[in-house]
Amino acid sequence: MLKIGVLALQGDFAEHAHMLRQVGVQPVEVRQPAHLTELRGLIIPGGESTTIARLALSAGLLEPLRDFAATYPTWGTCAGAIFLARRIRGEAAHLGVMDIVVERNAFGRQINSFTQPLAINGIGGGDYCAVFIRAPVIREAGPQVDVLARLDDGRIVAAQQGHLLASAFHPELTADTRMHAYFVRLCQ
Ligand code: GLN
Repeated sequence: MLKIGVLALQGDFAEHAHMLRQVGVQPVEVRQPAHLTELRGLIIPGGESTTIARLALSAGLLEPLRDFAATYPTWGTCAGAIFLARRIRGEAAHLGVMDIVVERNAFGRQINSFTQPLAINGIGGGDYCAVFIRAPVIREAGPQVDVLARLDDGRIVAAQQGHLLASAFHPELTADTRMHAYFVRLCQ
């Protein structure tokens, strides 16, 4: 059975693990470097990017995560996308492995959360109901990055750079498993 990790330091890791089980994958909660062995991919969940970064640093996970993401499919959702980005506007980057520039909290506060039907490149079957909670946007995407989805105003909310995937929204908070299935195909 394919093993895919979920970084389980803070945030929505249990919800991602649930979604992986739905698509026939055994999720592995990653809390220390040794947990990365034998994984074929990794999800970095939404939560609070600064908290995830602080906990990853104290667990000695920053370098191992950087090495992992250099080779294996890695998907950052919301805070996880911020965690992957090469640059965060106004702050220092965390992993810095994906050639995107992100802006945190681009839609305001928790109370400004919203759902938005999105057409996502590569995800068949019609619009995807995307949940945005204190979400970032991708302000710039490098030449190797494919834009998968934009809002009506043109802002980028999902992107892929080879085996790296970033989404500003929360696919683990819906019953729609299509994005998880897409990521699992990348891991195979
Ligand atoms: N606002 C959070 C951050 O900046 C991300 C929010 C989320 O993951 N839902 O890290």
